[in-house]
Amino acid sequence: MTDSKPHSKIRHWQELASSDFDTIAADDPVAVMVLAAIEQHGPHLPLSTDLDIGLGLLDRVCRELGDDFPLLILPPLAVGASEEHQLFPGTLSLSPGVATNVICGLGESVARAGVRRLILLNSHGGNTSVMTSAALHLRRCREMLVVKASYMKLGLPEGLVPVDELRHGLHGGLVETAMMMHLEPARVRENSIQDFVPAGKRMADDGFSLAPEGEASYAWLAGDLHPSGVAGKASDATAGLGKQLVEHYARGLADVFRDARRLDPPWFRKKGPGR
Ligand SMILES: [Zn+2]
Repeated sequence: MTDSKPHSKIRHWQELASSDFDTIAADDPVAVMVLAAIEQHGPHLPLSTDLDIGLGLLDRVCRELGDDFPLLILPPLAVGASEEHQLFPGTLSLSPGVATNVICGLGESVARAGVRRLILLNSHGGNTSVMTSAALHLRRCREMLVVKASYMKLGLPEGLVPVDELRHGLHGGLVETAMMMHLEPARVRENSIQDFVPAGKRMADDGFSLAPEGEASYAWLAGDLHPSGVAGKASDATAGLGKQLVEHYARGLADVFRDARRLDPPWFRKKGPGR
């Protein structure tokens, strides 16, 4: 992302001076941290896929919100909890305990600056449990409002992505490939794109209700979904679909950001804004 604009209330945390926080905290801003991953995404997508998507979505959310929205953009957590991808070279991973502690530590620093609203914008499914643990800690110990926003949970308009693909294309499939074709086309290796038929789809075709993800599921490593470590019909991805997906998710996330600013949780009323 580019530098903060001079008169915008959307600012990058690290571009501020410590003395700025007296006035900034009084405005009761929202801080946001992208939770991403640096992990294998098959032969066709880069290790940075989740980081690229998280930052790309945040960039478009900022355009939706406009310059009057008081938003503090924290440095992203580029490396997350990627234990399920560690058998593939290139994956960088923090253990779940370390990842949770890192988010807690950064959240506590945000609270010390007098900022009490924090959005965790998550672009990697494997971060869900560490995000949940850290958010609860920050609510309990720092009285913060911590919003857990995983873009992939926002839902899609009917028909945009086939139901089968949404259920089984868990990693590096149609959705991520299309979004990368729109956001970072130079990083997509089009010649390596395939239909990576997921294990979950084969099981469903054989009559199983049990699946790698879903109501009743089992723990999986990426190679269990498909030998290449990705799962889904990447071969149907287009940049046009990626643009539709990015715009849809950005609009949904912008609503979440506005709600995070507007919500007046009961535990805030006891303490008042700021420190
Ligand atoms: Zn991903």
